[in-house]
Amino acid sequence: MASISFTKKIAVKKEYDIIVCGGGVAGVAAAITARTLGASVLLIEKSNILGGLGTLGLINLFVPMCNGRGKQIIFGLCEKWARLSASLGYDTIPKEWKNGEPSEPTNVRYVQRYSPHIFALQLMDEVTKAGVDLLYDCLVCDPVMEGKICKGVITESKSGTEYYSAKMVIDTTGDCDVLRRGGVPTVSGENFYTYIGKKITLESCRLAAEKGDIKFAFSDICGGNINLWGDNQPSDKPKWSGLTVDEVTDYLITNQKAILSSLKSEDRETHEITHLPMMPQLRTTCHIKGDYSLKVEDAYQHFEDSVCAINDFEHRDHLWEVPLRTLTRKDYPNMLTAGRSADGTGYGWDLLRVIPVAILTGQAAAHAAVLAINSGMGVAEVDIKALQENLTKDNVMIHFPDELVPEDKTIILHGKNAAEIDGGHW
Ligand SMILES: Cc1cc2nc3c(=O)[nH]c(=O)nc-3n(C[C@H](O)[C@H](O)[C@H](O)COP(=O)(O)OP(=O)(O)OC[C@H]3O[C@@H](n4cnc5c(N)ncnc54)[C@H](O)[C@@H]3O)c2cc1C
Repeated sequence: MASISFTKKIAVKKEYDIIVCGGGVAGVAAAITARTLGASVLLIEKSNILGGLGTLGLINLFVPMCNGRGKQIIFGLCEKWARLSASLGYDTIPKEWKNGEPSEPTNVRYVQRYSPHIFALQLMDEVTKAGVDLLYDCLVCDPVMEGKICKGVITESKSGTEYYSAKMVIDTTGDCDVLRRGGVPTVSGENFYTYIGKKITLESCRLAAEKGDIKFAFSDICGGNINLWGDNQPSDKPKWSGLTVDEVTDYLITNQKAILSSLKSEDRETHEITHLPMMPQLRTTCHIKGDYSLKVEDAYQHFEDSVCAINDFEHRDHLWEVPLRTLTRKDYPNMLTAGRSADGTGYGWDLLRVIPVAILTGQAAAHAAVLAINSGMGVAEVDIKALQENLTKDNVMIHFPDELVPEDKTIILHGKNAAEIDGGHW
């Protein structure tokens, strides 16, 4: 392949303790947490709002934060934000959970569907109030590496090419772009045919007015609409990795054409598309090849280096813990990840990438990064007890209580015994 090479002198714009690359829910959680712990923090976001897939991508649901029997598992910033989103936008928290964990067991799960754009504004407010430096419309292009140490990142924006240095870099691009470009080993995934926007119709507006609740005005408009299990993925549609510009473009054109064609069967005077996803709705693009990969078989196991306990968002009872090692690699002492690029295998990756867990791993990554800076250790080698104590103070459950482990520990996923499922993504 032909190639060009050139050199360019770039001034160091500013130095930070921590640079967080990507302002999805994981990046926002990491940036706010690190700043609250006293670190100087730069959060760089390539789009114009915060929240990533959770706002720009129109994925507006905090999936269940409980074990399906009335016991809350996920707390921390996730709990705070679920309630924050309900304070100004849609409030869909079930009545059983309105005032916190119910006093009686219940099968009703603790979820919250929120207004994506109101939540994005609230995240911006939280970030700026915390004193995080935020750059919008700014792309992190490349980390600058000296061997396996990251010295900082190069950005592209209206200001041109700039360089920011950092003691610690957290990659929350969702796609592991910064780690990957820095030479950190990663694992790529496959993505189904999914692209869901929002529309209104005269009928849906009438319903909203009748109910006195604006959320009824919106319904989905779909290109592809394939669920996380890949049910009914059309055989003529590719599974996209989402890791090249050609694939992302093909994914977008294919899905946008499908939406356009669906409009032709409707009366043009009665409908309007209000939102198209402004980022590709790709679930599993790329994760760090971390020091540990979370697996379905790890259910009900306590890890010594656990940074949070998590529940299964699809099934009752199932519980896991997330080891710090899913976010780090010992050989890269000042780079780590959080959110949907944490290391999980098969459904283990799905467990890690949902909004509540992405927020918790963002919090954990920040605590680990600050401890590493303060102790002069690599981020994979921080004092785990201190890390867990700090996360506990931040309202994160580290280990699930043993009394919540059911007698029958068989893991059934999507109606099938997990032990009989081949590895790989569903
Ligand atoms: C179709 C679909 C349905 C889903 N359904 C649910 C659901 O119902 N509930 C749920 O909890 N989860 C759901 N998820 C998962 C969840 O939405 C995401 O995994 C989660 O929001 C990921 O958060 P994140 O912060 O890790 O990454 P992202 O949301 O991907 O955020 C990454 C951010 O980084 C920015 N960025 C990327 N590259 C750069 C760069 N080079 N420079 C600067 N900025 C950059 C992006 O603009 C983005 O803001 C779904 C996902 C999909 C795709």
